[in-house]
Amino acid sequence: MGKRSYNKTPMREQDPAVRQHNFKEVALGYDLKEGRLEANRCLQCKDAPCVLHCPVMIDIPGFIKQIKEDDMEGARKILDRYTNLPAICGRVCPQEKQCEMVCRLGQSKKFEPVAIGKLERLVADWALEQPNEVTNITQDKGKVAIVGSGPSGLTVAGDLAKLGYQVVIFEALQLPGGVLTYGIPEFRLPKQIVQKEIDQIIAQGVKIETDVVVGKTITMDEIRQEFDACYVGVGAGTPHFMEIPGTDLNGVYASSEYLTRINLMHGYEFPDYDTPIQPAKNVVVIGGGNVAMDSARSAKRLGAESVTVIYRRSQAELPARVEEYHHSVEENIEYSWLTSPVEYIAGDQGQLVGVKCIKMKLGEPDTSGRRRPLPISGSEFVIPADTAIEAIGQGANRILLDTFPELVTNQRGYVKAHERTCATSVPGIFAGGDIVTGAATVILAMGAGKIAAKEIDEYVQFEKASTTV
Ligand code: FAD
Ligand code: SF4
Repeated sequence: MGKRSYNKTPMREQDPAVRQHNFKEVALGYDLKEGRLEANRCLQCKDAPCVLHCPVMIDIPGFIKQIKEDDMEGARKILDRYTNLPAICGRVCPQEKQCEMVCRLGQSKKFEPVAIGKLERLVADWALEQPNEVTNITQDKGKVAIVGSGPSGLTVAGDLAKLGYQVVIFEALQLPGGVLTYGIPEFRLPKQIVQKEIDQIIAQGVKIETDVVVGKTITMDEIRQEFDACYVGVGAGTPHFMEIPGTDLNGVYASSEYLTRINLMHGYEFPDYDTPIQPAKNVVVIGGGNVAMDSARSAKRLGAESVTVIYRRSQAELPARVEEYHHSVEENIEYSWLTSPVEYIAGDQGQLVGVKCIKMKLGEPDTSGRRRPLPISGSEFVIPADTAIEAIGQGANRILLDTFPELVTNQRGYVKAHERTCATSVPGIFAGGDIVTGAATVILAMGAGKIAAKEIDEYVQFEKASTTV
């Protein structure tokens, strides 16, 4: 083996000057040669800390070793044992806060960690190009309903189908995938990739019924009568609002609506699709997480001349992935740190013409441990804007919960479920993902799904005889 390079093998990307005008994927992936080069940097640690920091405990040195040995089929088989959605996770997982954060190579000052996520993506993309293996597992162990087709529900479904269950997913929207489909934009996660990984789950025998809102189209009682167990993975997509004057003006959006119009309803292809997104010249995005980055970068691609993200803390506290922040800066997104909106200003037609803001300073830490932002009186100023997008967080999706009060929730409105079993207050009903944790990550939602699949299997095989679902 040649000398180990200090830095990760760079991944080719679309030129920022070009990509800020299109919705095509930014990161272009490794080819096999680049993948082998990166795989060669792995130390193959016996007590691999990277594995312990992966919520689904992928055998990371194992699949990297197969890439090194040019055995892509072997690498794919290893990934298949742990995850149903590797091409998605390889793209959107916050590896820098999980496996890569503890990578032994990266602990030495000279070296960057192994690019584990990029290698996962390489194997997964390679696998998607291979002929789809049709599995013929007899599905006679029982019937399980899943509510919600986000990463959590899809993971439970895939794992239970492999165990021999008949699985039906009920999804409220017209397409499956949850946030993967309606939230995360095409330039970070192509919808074709999401669909291909979902197709592989369908190929295992899982049925997905879209346009079914559980709690309206069908009830939980009907589900309980027909199925042996049910998994609730309905996510946390209800937007929070700043609730400042002018929120009802034309041009003020919640990020979830803005991104759904673009991603799910093809807003960026207006007039070919009839979902309008108002053309904007000056856009203000409020928030500092991934959702804010996605909204800002989407607005730029829709043709905005200026896009300013306003965040009430400083850059050091920005919760978004560092990679997404850097990409946004390359795409000419501007930032106004320590700034909070106080009012949306109306023009004479009732449309937004500006966002009145106030400067903030950081005080003592609050309950989250982060320093509390405090307004500086007299520091108000106006940013001219015809569109404002609020990306300040989301809460529980309530439709199912409101019609099924037996399911106990916590003070924040999320379903109470056991951390190690995903069991809820109702026997036979399990829950996980964002509807339990609050808005979190794809891999944590998948981790809960893996736990739930095992527990549902145990429940149906051993406990159900003494309990009624
Ligand atoms: P969801 O993905 O929210 O799926 C829930 C599904 O349930 C939805 O499809 C919904 O329509 C359906 N549903 C709700 N109610 C009902 C009902 N009554 N009947 C039937 N169906 C119902 N995480 C990362 O790890 N990396 C990222 O880069 C990242 N970027 C993000 C960007 C955006 C814009 C957003 C919004 C989130 C992002 N996240 C990211 C967070 C991540 O996507 C979520 O944590 C994850 O999708 C949660 O998965 P879930 O399966 O619990 O729920
Ligand atoms: Fe390889 Fe890093 Fe994991 Fe060690 S910790 S096995 S170097 S990826």
